[in-house]
Amino acid sequence: MTLPLKIKLVLLGKNFNDFNLEKIRDHKSGIFTIISVEEIRENDIKTEEDGLQYSVDKLKKKIAEDVGFDIVFAVTRSMIEDNYYGHRLGKKSCIISYFDIKEDILKDGNTIENFILRNLYAVSTLYVKSNGSLLPGDWSYLHQDTRGCLFDYNVLKTDIIYSLHKPRLCNECVASMNASTIPHDYNTMLNRELSGIRRPLYYSVRRFFISHPIWSLTIASVFSLLINLLASLVYDFLKHTYHFFP
Ligand SMILES: [Zn+2]
Repeated sequence: MTLPLKIKLVLLGKNFNDFNLEKIRDHKSGIFTIISVEEIRENDIKTEEDGLQYSVDKLKKKIAEDVGFDIVFAVTRSMIEDNYYGHRLGKKSCIISYFDIKEDILKDGNTIENFILRNLYAVSTLYVKSNGSLLPGDWSYLHQDTRGCLFDYNVLKTDIIYSLHKPRLCNECVASMNASTIPHDYNTMLNRELSGIRRPLYYSVRRFFISHPIWSLTIASVFSLLINLLASLVYDFLKHTYHFFP
């Protein structure tokens, strides 16, 4: 199998203003590369309003495997069968949906781009580990408990937020990878790239201030002191050098 994997990204639905497509398409990775983007434009399916969802059978017809690509990876904001956030549709095709979890992702200070990239890494890793298939035959590659790992089952869909900021593989999954035929340098490359998937800096700083109020107060006080000190020094400098002030 040759890396990077060739990905065809399919956007299914009507409106994709929730994320920046360029950030996904131009993401630099030694593990996967998006070769092509296809849009299947149709009205979004909203469960609350019309009681509909995309059935897996329907999706298998819409998101066909393509011999020119390793994986056909689809994204939608509509609900998919049984309200999963992701579904494998075949050996080389799958779909993810941020239906029902968009607000939780954004409230956590994360982005839909990170949701998509995190799942691209999970799917690519499963594909490589399973020798070119997304259907390894059982579910043992997933674990029920939530560890911030790419292979968390996330029974509670919103638990996905724990593996969006700097996602990783847990020790158990690393051991499982090492026991497989996966190339040795794959884990190193994966870890390096996953560490680059982070919340935007503004939200990380905001979260720090909210969760560490005493430290925040101390830092704010020190900064305030330093700014006052700096202002005094500038004042003295201007006063003595240019006689700007009376
Ligand atoms: Zn794990």
